[in-house]
Amino acid sequence: MTSKDQIIEVLRQVMDPEIPGLSIVDLGMVGDVSVEGDTVHIDLIPTFLGCPALDFIGRNVEKAMAGRPVAIRWVHDQPWSSSMISARGRQALSEWGIAPPSEQSEVTCPFCGSHHTSHTSPFGPALCRAVYYCHDCAQPFEKIKTV
Ligand SMILES: [Zn+2]
Repeated sequence: MTSKDQIIEVLRQVMDPEIPGLSIVDLGMVGDVSVEGDTVHIDLIPTFLGCPALDFIGRNVEKAMAGRPVAIRWVHDQPWSSSMISARGRQALSEWGIAPPSEQSEVTCPFCGSHHTSHTSPFGPALCRAVYYCHDCAQPFEKIKTV
């Protein structure tokens, strides 16, 4: 594990703690990666302020590196934006029943694809998600807020 690409491949195994199948790479959290001597330097871009999982993610990154010295730097001067979620990441969100962020005001139901949805609560179980309701399949669902 010496090249940047190899390290990114390892980081693909580190999942968002709340959404199985969504890796931190696809979430757009991984910034610069470099290797100096034995130490892997990884810049991580925190997602929404208030998402309480950052320490947990940091520990999982260390675990994924399997004992290799890791220096994690949380980058705060490069704000994370929901547009940094990859196509694969958006797919993982939909499969988990969460609408990915979008620029459109229309919100698509992740279960049936209907646009006949309405906003029910600005705060979901996590601050970064909002709760919607689909009038066609009568399912509540969450959407990642667009930031
Ligand atoms: Zn629906």
